Amino acid sequence: MVPIAIKIDPADNVAIIANDGGLQAGTEVLGSVVLKDFIPQGHKVTLLDIEAGEGVVRYGEVIGQAIESLSAGSWLHDRHIRIPEAPALEDLPLATREAKNRPALEGYTFEGYRNADGSVGTRNVLGIMTSVQCVTGVADHVVRKVKSELLQKYPNVDDVIAITHSYGCGVAIQAPNAAIPIRTLMNLAKNPNLGGEVLVVGLGCEKLQPGRLVPKGSDVEANVVCLQDIHEDGFEGMIARIMEMVETRLARLDKRSRETCPVSDLVIGVQCGGSDAFSGITANPVVGFATDMIVRSGGTVLFSEVTEVRDAVHLLTPRAVNVEVAKTLLEEMSWYDNYLEEGNSDRTANPTPGNKLGGLSNIVEKALGSIIKSGTSPISDVLGHGEQVKKKGLVFAATPASDFVCGTQQLASGIALQVFTTGRGTPYGLAMAPVVKVSSRTALSKRWFDLIDLDAGRIATGEADIETVGEELFRMILDIASGRIQTAADKLGLANDLVVFNPAPIT
Ligand code: CA
Repeated sequence: MVPIAIKIDPADNVAIIANDGGLQAGTEVLGSVVLKDFIPQGHKVTLLDIEAGEGVVRYGEVIGQAIESLSAGSWLHDRHIRIPEAPALEDLPLATREAKNRPALEGYTFEGYRNADGSVGTRNVLGIMTSVQCVTGVADHVVRKVKSELLQKYPNVDDVIAITHSYGCGVAIQAPNAAIPIRTLMNLAKNPNLGGEVLVVGLGCEKLQPGRLVPKGSDVEANVVCLQDIHEDGFEGMIARIMEMVETRLARLDKRSRETCPVSDLVIGVQCGGSDAFSGITANPVVGFATDMIVRSGGTVLFSEVTEVRDAVHLLTPRAVNVEVAKTLLEEMSWYDNYLEEGNSDRTANPTPGNKLGGLSNIVEKALGSIIKSGTSPISDVLGHGEQVKKKGLVFAATPASDFVCGTQQLASGIALQVFTTGRGTPYGLAMAPVVKVSSRTALSKRWFDLIDLDAGRIATGEADIETVGEELFRMILDIASGRIQTAADKLGLANDLVVFNPAPIT
């Protein structure tokens, strides 16, 4: 076993131990540094003597100040490092980076489902949406019944799903922040994988009236069923009415077929969850490379997770296409700073204990690794929480970093597929869109061989480079978008619940 320590930037005074199982004291790394302690995989070794108060540098950025002096070769643990202040949101460089003139990529296509509104789906799914939690049991019952009795008669329909959530009633629906959950739900109904077909099941007396979930231009009466308005007797009467509406929609969806679409029609989202110190070296750079390929092909990639870009925002504002986009990005950061403050909390609420075990010392280090998913393209637009995508290219869609909330909001923004990187491992999946899981470590890919789609850990051991694995991911995205291959989560039928972000009061 060759001892491997990875230094990212020439200015770094720490490196990451790459070997599975860590490295023993006495091992020499990078040709000159002898380890003074045992250092676990993913954790940091000091490459130089670092004085107390001196900056600890990774990714060429200060990730914190050393609390005590450490000589070269020491294990730099998160207890040795003090988190710096978050970058101030004033006086940042706005839209200052000159756009690199990279040639457009031509000729890449996928087989998608074209919708009347111009969006393109990667699946053909019937969604049964609830307007309120009260009717969830009924929607779930219908889905089970459709799957066992009807779906096989419609071979071109990929799936039927219940789009359920905890919003809808018992909420301060007039509160200013209620705009976020309401538009998230309205936009979820328009997700490209639902083919423009919505069936809304409501109760009748709820605050969020079900008609609001029917997209503008669609007939409200034809697309909504309210349980309190059904006059047939009992539960069976309700189910019969909904099944009738389901069947007309299945028949329409079944007539659709895939057609060849340019990558410029593709909208995907990227996020990370259960990150470790390798995420920023292997999996996230791979995603960044694929992101650049999609953007250069004219397509759209949404990156998100406000608390995981906040500490690296000074590296993003220069990349905005114009000052206005940069300012919108800062407004989203500031909104979230206030949101955390109102909850008597701050950015140190992230990372998780698992992130720390994986070698991530603090949110600064996590953010620097996280933003690499965005690649190097200019940022063409910024979306508020749950807003629908409007522009092509690389788009920042504000979401919490929480995996399920980010997934829900990116679906609302209109992604037809999501790429998810993980170092610690998660069985995460979405019912509405395929999720391609990329592992930051080979050990995880081996252990979870049937849960992970792509192993980026090969990069840490030098077996592969970012370009090779990045292009592999790009081609995998197109294959999955075309229905040629299935993701690990889809094969296993794994999907998380939707979780709608509601920063407004519950009554
Ligand atoms: Ca996340």
